[in-house]
Amino acid sequence: MSRRTLETLSFDNSYARLPQAFYARLNPTPFSAPPCLIHANRSAAELIDLDPAQFTRPEFAEVFGGHALASGMEPLAMLYSGHQFGVYVPQLGDGRAILLGEAKNEQGQRWDLHLKGAGMTPFSRDGDGRAVLRSTIREYLCCAAMQGLGIPTTQALCLVGSDDKVYREQVETGAMLVRMAPSHVRFGMFEVFYYRKQYEHLKTLADYVVDQHFPHLSDVDGKYSRFFNEVVERTARLIAQWQAVGWAHGVMNTDNMSILGLTMDYGPYGFMDDYDAGFICNHSDHNGRYAFDQQPYIGLWNLSCLAQALLPLVEKEALKAGLGTYQSLFDQEYQKRMRAKFGLLDVQAEDDQLIRDFLGLLQGSHADYTIVFRELGAFSSQNGAVNEKLREHFLNRERFDDWALRYRDRLRGEDGRDDERRDRMNRVNPKYVLRNYLAQIAIEKAQNKDFSEIERLFTALQTPFAEQPGMESYALPPPNWGKHLAVSCSS
Ligand code: AMP
Ligand code: MG
Repeated sequence: MSRRTLETLSFDNSYARLPQAFYARLNPTPFSAPPCLIHANRSAAELIDLDPAQFTRPEFAEVFGGHALASGMEPLAMLYSGHQFGVYVPQLGDGRAILLGEAKNEQGQRWDLHLKGAGMTPFSRDGDGRAVLRSTIREYLCCAAMQGLGIPTTQALCLVGSDDKVYREQVETGAMLVRMAPSHVRFGMFEVFYYRKQYEHLKTLADYVVDQHFPHLSDVDGKYSRFFNEVVERTARLIAQWQAVGWAHGVMNTDNMSILGLTMDYGPYGFMDDYDAGFICNHSDHNGRYAFDQQPYIGLWNLSCLAQALLPLVEKEALKAGLGTYQSLFDQEYQKRMRAKFGLLDVQAEDDQLIRDFLGLLQGSHADYTIVFRELGAFSSQNGAVNEKLREHFLNRERFDDWALRYRDRLRGEDGRDDERRDRMNRVNPKYVLRNYLAQIAIEKAQNKDFSEIERLFTALQTPFAEQPGMESYALPPPNWGKHLAVSCSS
């Protein structure tokens, strides 16, 4: 394996070769105080063949803290627009992030190195171009959590802090985060050229995205409609995974939707503690547009915005047909994931109801989503078994008992032993998720210059399905103070 240094990173900046209308070239604006590395991610570094020994060099924090450029970087802020809370906003763009360049690894894969919090850009509008330590820690840890859970996501390479003050509701300190993805192109990038009637640019963007990221479609008939169909599929599958793990994005605006079907732009997201279908993680989302149970529908809504933007390239009927596949793709993926959470191997007509009824019981009991599913793995299907520990999570014990009998009978209809099923379930029902209060503890310590909690949490989240001796406290439900922490877009 190649072990690259900062000096020998290899860049091939395909985005910078697109027409100038696609971006604004500019360098990051460094903090006035020297940058300091808070954490770096070895597995993300591997993706670009970067030797983790580089992390300890002062130059590492300088390059990824916006103070210096590595040779071959061509920094730029990407243009896009998007629908925010249902309303079209004609120009957004990277207001506080800069695409430093695309690092190419030995396998020829390119990874965007995208520096968030890098200062004002022409797209900053009223913003200061900065990100606060609090929000970058939340993004950094959640990328690790999603990656550990196997949910498609942008990755985070490192977190760099500074003593510079940043003004939000309170005075906070600034930080920068390097995120990585094969592409940061969003639905909103297609929308900006559509609404400006710049159809040549729209076509150039579509060709670029297809050639770079859907190369099997480059030379096929109907390539744009097939490309759209694949975006529909990836989006449906992604959101099904969010639903199965009990995670809400919080700001599913079309500018936060990845064309590659990755989870991106982490803001006021949340893993549910107590199960609540109507869970709203974003404190500013007063109408619950992005509530947990709305996400599948919003995915479709966002895809229809993308479809609209592709109208100059694709027949309306073909786009409609693509949108028409969304619900069944979503259902298929969701059912598959949920059946696995219950340890069910074959597909039975009654499964859907069995699953719904269990979620209804969780909701009525305010039971912890992650803990109960993890404990469900220990369910005994033996005669006369009581499953007492699980039962204690439910307020209405009779209803739970009825459900447990149905579940027992369902399990008995399948081949396989209880212990085998438990092992299988433990591979899909995580023990460790990034609960809000855990992130909050790490943030408060980091604000006092103690970064140890970031390291511990990061480690626990990397293998969320494993029993990790010594880490059990991270699997506990939130204490009272940590149950309803307010998280908003202000980051
Ligand atoms: P978000 O809600 O974080 O996805 O951001 C929506 C838009 O606002 C994007 O164009 C961001 O780049 C921009 N933005 C958010 N925060 C800031 C900030 N502090 N400074 C400049 N632009 C920002
Ligand atoms: Mg965004």
